[in-house]
Amino acid sequence: MALRDILILPDKRLRLVSEPVKAVDAEVRALVDDMFETMYEAPGVGLAAIQIGVPRRIVTADTAKKDEEKNPQVFINPMIVWSSEEKGTYEEGCLSIPEYYEDVERPAQVKVRYTGLDGKTHEIEADGLLATVLQHEIDHTNGVLFIDHISKLKRDRVLKKFAKAAKRTDD
Ligand SMILES: [Zn+2]
Repeated sequence: MALRDILILPDKRLRLVSEPVKAVDAEVRALVDDMFETMYEAPGVGLAAIQIGVPRRIVTADTAKKDEEKNPQVFINPMIVWSSEEKGTYEEGCLSIPEYYEDVERPAQVKVRYTGLDGKTHEIEADGLLATVLQHEIDHTNGVLFIDHISKLKRDRVLKKFAKAAKRTDD
């Protein structure tokens, strides 16, 4: 296992559309191990492979509370096959947009079809935090960030802030 660097806004790779995984092989399992190590270390509740620079449709998540046992979940080629009319609002953050949080409204429940580490197709119905995490991470596999769901005014402000910070690091 290895800790990987997390891409930070405005890294252009965050806008890539990730490629589907064809087979769950040793390489994919090793990548998933790295993703979990990186996600737990951050710490975060979800991570998409592109956030560590790998444009493949793989998502890891763990929405267990601090006092609960770890619940690592892996979603390969995840796809939303149903979402509720009912909406829910969560204050979202992103490991690629550190220390920035904003309310985002999304469908409150979703059904997601995905491939598991067993190579088989599964479906999960999620609500609450997991529903939000899945939608946030599946967005990442399509090059979409949670700031794309907030007002243009707020988005422009955060884009500017991160562009400025990146410039400072370059100097
Ligand atoms: Zn994110």
